[in-house]
Amino acid sequence: MSDPVLVDTHAHLDGAEYSADLDAVLARAAAVGVGVIVCAGQDEATSRATLELAARHKVVLPSVGVHPHLASSAGDMGWLTGLARDARVVAIGECGLDYHYDFSPRDVQRDVFARQLELAGEVSKPVIIHCRESEDDLVEHLRRYYARDRRAVVHCFTGAYDFGKALVDEFDVYLGIGGAVTFKKAEALHDAAARLPLERIVLETDCPYMTPAPHRGKRNEPAHLALTCTRLAELRGLPVESIARTTTENARRLFPGL
Ligand SMILES: [Zn+2]
Repeated sequence: MSDPVLVDTHAHLDGAEYSADLDAVLARAAAVGVGVIVCAGQDEATSRATLELAARHKVVLPSVGVHPHLASSAGDMGWLTGLARDARVVAIGECGLDYHYDFSPRDVQRDVFARQLELAGEVSKPVIIHCRESEDDLVEHLRRYYARDRRAVVHCFTGAYDFGKALVDEFDVYLGIGGAVTFKKAEALHDAAARLPLERIVLETDCPYMTPAPHRGKRNEPAHLALTCTRLAELRGLPVESIARTTTENARRLFPGL
């Protein structure tokens, strides 16, 4: 694949939100230089859907996993073990812990997350991690089930600088910066995005969610990654092209097949 200008490291294009106009969405992404879109499965159906999407659209790379919201319906996860070994699959996830919504019991979330961290190690693929109000248990899980020489991204990073820096220092993970960095009141995130090691930052939309300003309230899409890139460039005091280039290099180290 030729060098993409921008890589959207976290999107959900498989859903009904895009069924009517996906081709137009992908054309707008291409027009602003988004050359790769990693689509993350959240259960068996959406994981299989991301593989089907990737078969139809070259720009889409699939990741397979079980979102913490759906941990209690993950079953024995034999399906995931099979899909994880598919050569087209670039990562395991999204997986992790979400104690904000608690849609699945926390002990089930922890078990399903641990199994995915172990599976990622077995198949030597990076992990896409979701963490919301579960920072302590995330660190404990990474200590127990993750080796520093593997690769992972804590997606939709909205934490403070100290937490991000601690994650990078101890586990050498990447941090996904998304639309939240464009929000006026996200001051702690502005500070984190300005100061965290640039070699560990990747860009993401998390679309259809997390729509950046000035489009808040509407459906998000990969083309809006350019707004996040521009805001990050402002915060770092660097040219937009330099942020685009560095975050793309980072994404290629994170997802080696990219
Ligand atoms: Zn997501």
